Amino acid sequence: MINDPIVVEALTSTPEECRADLQHLYVTWLTINDLFFGDALTIPTIELADLPFRLYGDYDRIGDHSSHIRINRRLVVGTHPDVIPGRRHAAGRLRLAEDILLHETVHAWQDRIIGVREPSWHGHGPIFRDRSNAIGEVLGLAPVRSNRDRGRYASRPICSGWPMVARPPGFYAAAPQTARFRSV
Ligand SMILES: [Zn+2]
Repeated sequence: MINDPIVVEALTSTPEECRADLQHLYVTWLTINDLFFGDALTIPTIELADLPFRLYGDYDRIGDHSSHIRINRRLVVGTHPDVIPGRRHAAGRLRLAEDILLHETVHAWQDRIIGVREPSWHGHGPIFRDRSNAIGEVLGLAPVRSNRDRGRYASRPICSGWPMVARPPGFYAAAPQTARFRSV
């Protein structure tokens, strides 16, 4: 994995202080791709970027073959208002980054494998919901809903915040459970 040109480029263009975290996220991504997507996805450029506070992360494509996943670096280093700063909470913040990576990888799968990005749902429609719930079942997470599901599903959290909204209290430690998980 480390020899893949995309990974080498991503690691070398990252400030040294974040390189170990990015490497950890690449290992996490390989596990996600193996466990939940049957190794169907090609390795993305993962970037720890200083995004606006409201944005935890995002996915987009680069050209025809490459994917680009950004994760808000401020959440990882502890300068984002939704997380607790300090080394003691670094592991919890990284766990949050892993979950954002999982979320964005579902978007990559939607785009690259299914070919439907569900723009009228801002990416969080039935396809995203069902895939999230299938993965969530393996992880022991409660089901989520799309932003238009009503009726008996109304009490479920919305999948735009998945899997963060489905994690048990204290899961991240570094992110107070009262934090507003934003649409990613
Ligand atoms: Zn999303």
